[in-house]
Amino acid sequence: MMPDKERALRQEVIDTCLKMNALGINQGTSGNASVRVSDEPNAGFFITPSAIPYEEIRPEDIVRMELDGSHSDNRRPSSEWRFHLDIMRHRPDCGAIVHTHGMFATTLACLRMEIPAFHYMIAQAGGPTIRCSGYATFGTQELSDTALEALEGRRACLLANHGMIAIGPSLKKALALALEVETLAGMYWRALQVGKPVILPDDEIERVGVKFGTMGYGAVEKGAAKPRKRKGKAA
Ligand code: 13P
Ligand code: ZN
Repeated sequence: MMPDKERALRQEVIDTCLKMNALGINQGTSGNASVRVSDEPNAGFFITPSAIPYEEIRPEDIVRMELDGSHSDNRRPSSEWRFHLDIMRHRPDCGAIVHTHGMFATTLACLRMEIPAFHYMIAQAGGPTIRCSGYATFGTQELSDTALEALEGRRACLLANHGMIAIGPSLKKALALALEVETLAGMYWRALQVGKPVILPDDEIERVGVKFGTMGYGAVEKGAAKPRKRKGKAA
């Protein structure tokens, strides 16, 4: 029997994915989410299984992955387990990850555009830009590497020709940031239709970030462990 606390956390991963679709920032079986099993250093995480409609996922279908990349449970972990694993390993500030294919964030990502500081709320993402990663095939180590780079010193990034990633201390905060990034992407897209948005200076975003408590949030840890050989059979 699964302990109640564990069942509740697994359910929270499912609820997060149901919400991201209900909010209109993702659709279908696109996207995925993960959360750390506990606050213990080196704690593994729970991640959504691959390609199962969120309405059909039960707590038992959520996959537990350790930080060495091994995994248990019946299902195949999300095809994006590599970036979930690498972010969890390199970013001790990260308790949860939400990945979406939202309309506007993905539109900008297809144009390989980053989001500049056209609105002060960008400071929620940890700095004056939301960067766009390079392109790499979904589910590859190359995608994970370029995503980790785009996330340096940030809590969100766009993924070229693909979507976006938001991270946070909890699923609730990661989802809230994903919604914020999608909103900013939509506003920026609209502003570009009318004219040239005015970009706020870095020191203003710094000030706002200090007020939010998000600035300098979670720079990649120097000397953080590099991915090791994986035991699991994840595809
Ligand atoms: P999964 O269903 O394997 O998580 O894939 C969805 C996705 O967004 C791939 O990038
Ligand atoms: Zn994706």
